[in-house]
Amino acid sequence: MALLADRESRLLIDGKLVAGSAGTFDTVNPATEEVLGVAADADAADLGQAIEAARRAFDETDWSRDTALRVRCLRQLQQAMRDHLEELRELTIAEVGAPRMLTSGGQLETPIEDLSFAADTAENYSWTTDLGYATPQGIPTDRRIVREAVGVVGAITPWNFPHQINLAKIGPALAAGNTLVLKPAPDTPWAAAVLGELITEHTDFPPGVINIVTSSDHRIGALLSEDPRVDMVSFTGSTATGRAVMTAAAATIKKVFLELGGKSAFVVLDDADLAGACSMAAFTASMHAGQGCAITTRLLVPRQRYDEAVEATAATMASLRPGDPNDARTVCGPLISARQRDRVQGYLDLAIQEGGRFACGGGRPADRDKGFFIEPTVIAGLTNDARVAREEIFGPVLTVIPHDGDDDAVRIANDSPYGLSGTVFSADPDRAASVAARLRVGTVNVNGGIWYSADAPFGGYKQSGIGREMGLAGFEEYTEIKVIAAAAASRDGAAAAASRDGAAAAASRDGAAAAQ
Ligand code: NAD
Repeated sequence: MALLADRESRLLIDGKLVAGSAGTFDTVNPATEEVLGVAADADAADLGQAIEAARRAFDETDWSRDTALRVRCLRQLQQAMRDHLEELRELTIAEVGAPRMLTSGGQLETPIEDLSFAADTAENYSWTTDLGYATPQGIPTDRRIVREAVGVVGAITPWNFPHQINLAKIGPALAAGNTLVLKPAPDTPWAAAVLGELITEHTDFPPGVINIVTSSDHRIGALLSEDPRVDMVSFTGSTATGRAVMTAAAATIKKVFLELGGKSAFVVLDDADLAGACSMAAFTASMHAGQGCAITTRLLVPRQRYDEAVEATAATMASLRPGDPNDARTVCGPLISARQRDRVQGYLDLAIQEGGRFACGGGRPADRDKGFFIEPTVIAGLTNDARVAREEIFGPVLTVIPHDGDDDAVRIANDSPYGLSGTVFSADPDRAASVAARLRVGTVNVNGGIWYSADAPFGGYKQSGIGREMGLAGFEEYTEIKVIAAAAASRDGAAAAASRDGAAAAASRDGAAAAQ
């Protein structure tokens, strides 16, 4: 099977690939601006059918209780993705604008392999914990804690790492026994729709267990968030949209899981290798044109070495020219859309209005007349109060900010509405660890350590989100906790009776002895 052979994707509803009731919409290559093809455009009625199918599959089949079936289906999906890896790679580069080098990691291969973690967890999980016998309020009781699926999950995802984020929801949600409706971003419909093709062709997923609803209309996400038939919303995207999702979900008190934006700090302490740290910060900020929620976009450096740090950072960033994502050497590809490019350009204009200066970059590259490219840009001369230092830009833009020692660096790093991630560099591991401990964020890289891994929970403090994705914590997000308390025969009573019997026997022996 060639994926998307007719360059037109379908919805997956109740086990069938179907057209969208609102017609189709274009999906565009952000590096060339060419239309790749079309995706099915779902309307509210299509979404309703998808939710209904997921509801039926949860309520009326034994999917949520058949762990072996769930594990088998997830492993089949993983194998199907492996078998179509090269097609998926080309699709990802074309639709997402993801640099080829990232498809062997977080943009494609790693999330496919990470499906094993979800399947293995379901297989080995202790669904029941024996809390033991007790006599609460004097009543003899045997207690068990049971973990079980939440129900129907609405998964809403962004475009920047579509496979990673789609699979980090589908894997644990389905492994835990939920059924699901996936609503991907309108910018990357094919990355989700191909799963529908692979699922129908190569897996035993029962109808309705997983539904995929592509749409050009953001309101489909809003409807999914508010629908009373949905038990939980798992959302990744901007903090503004996350707030709207939480509000919409409030009417039915749904469980809400949010992975939101970030403005993470890269802290360089005064004993660190400044050039090495700045070069790593520059590389990270340019990767995939800065379209990563956990990318460190504020570089905090010792004040006395500020100019040197700006120069070193700019030297690396200027060398990472925006390029064709097909080229295996490209680090910085295009932004996803003209809208996103214009948004980033707006922030660059704002940096100048705020009194900043560009140490490199600052706009669209002169050598590219097609594609949504922005030059990797270093902003200098601003403090942490500037809007470009506080708001998420989601482009290849790094603001360099001076600090006056470890306490000041911690203060600046934490002076943000976000709390997603951070990095600390120091020659002294203990000093780095002590700064890392004081950062109010969900993940910290110390001296180049990698926190991204299937078994490591990822998520944010403050306005960066609620809950954790991946790891055991990410699996358990998709479970409810039930306590089953069964009236029991009184073991204390039995023990008391036994001791009474023992005492009586002893007394009678004593009595008999005395009588003799
Ligand atoms: P976005 O918030 O605009 O859209 C995300 C998804 O929400 C899309 O599928 C969109 O159609 C849908 N949506 C839009 N309006 C909605 C509404 N009112 N109700 C429900 N759904 C709605 O985000 P984006 O521009 O696609 O992605 C970029 C953002 O995602 C950045 O802010 C980035 O930091 C964030 N992000 C966070 C993480 C994380 O794990 N913390 C990961 C990746 C991206």
